[in-house]
Amino acid sequence: MKLNLHAHTKYSDGANTMWHMADMAKKLGHVAFVATDHDYMMTPEKYEDAVRDAAQITAGGFLCVAALEISIVYDEAALIGTEACRAWLKAMTKAPQEGYFASRENYYQERREYQLAVLHDIVRVHRCALILVHPGGAPIPALFQVLDAYEIMNSGTRWDKSEIDVLAKLMPSARQVIGMDAHSSAWMRHETMSACNDVDFLAKTEEDIIRWVKQED
Ligand SMILES: [Zn+2]
Repeated sequence: MKLNLHAHTKYSDGANTMWHMADMAKKLGHVAFVATDHDYMMTPEKYEDAVRDAAQITAGGFLCVAALEISIVYDEAALIGTEACRAWLKAMTKAPQEGYFASRENYYQERREYQLAVLHDIVRVHRCALILVHPGGAPIPALFQVLDAYEIMNSGTRWDKSEIDVLAKLMPSARQVIGMDAHSSAWMRHETMSACNDVDFLAKTEEDIIRWVKQED
């Protein structure tokens, strides 16, 4: 069975609805469809619509989960866990906005500090899984401390071994995952054989996905 943990829908910059994407995932033999729409294109209200869609799609042994791809200034991570996503979006509405600070540099630094503090609180309070996606640049210690997994392949491209080695050293116990970063169901069909996790469990709830990411299975 297949499991992808990185995909977008019309709730952010994806081409298809969550219904359409989930249907494609089901046809391709996936255990679940996990939507990781961009936090900056979401609002707490829009996210509730996504959660409602996911609940309605979940049927007949097929699971659909509304997660998020969160942007922590220069880094991005998939956040899985409905309560954690709610808390994140709520906090981001209060995060410092661009224009608040005189210098651009100050804004990014302040925003990142705010986001990291929020993230540390969230992982302490809410059950969730956090996966670093398409890593780039220098990882921040405060971020990799809370990561459960990191992508080693995305959009069909495997990272450089040297890059993976850096991540493996920073997070020796984290799971290595493959992400499709699918923005359309057609693209998903194309990539599904070369870029997807092979799993041997059935997913009934998001907790099953979280447990797999955290390697508690
Ligand atoms: Zn993405």
